[in-house]
Amino acid sequence: MEFFVLAVPATHLDFSTPIARELASAYSVPKPAVYLVRDTKSRPAFDSEAIGRGNSGTRPEIADTVWITAATRDSGIVFAHELAHVLMDSGEHAQEEGNLMRDETSPGNKRLSAAQCERLLDKGKANGLLR
Ligand SMILES: [Zn+2]
Repeated sequence: MEFFVLAVPATHLDFSTPIARELASAYSVPKPAVYLVRDTKSRPAFDSEAIGRGNSGTRPEIADTVWITAATRDSGIVFAHELAHVLMDSGEHAQEEGNLMRDETSPGNKRLSAAQCERLLDKGKANGLLR
């Protein structure tokens, strides 16, 4: 994992698709990439957002990225949850108690099923996101 700090104007501190596309195009970083941003301009507003291959059709520059706002609670869990969405290339959520991919993240939701682990590894390697 590498960390990059970008100095950007105040107009670029909050997530929006146009700003994200501009940043990702101007500053190429290895993917999957996690961007820590101040807030979001998207509506509905999510505290974090994962953009995989499946939901990046009109915005390919930001495929395989995660955007996490300062409002995010349980940031470590959210980091893992959103990265798992990207690596699995899936927006699906799970219902099982304690599963990392429940739609509501919480400190107790840390587990992935065997099928989720397999998909994460298979898709992540197929998409060149895991070595
Ligand atoms: Zn999710």
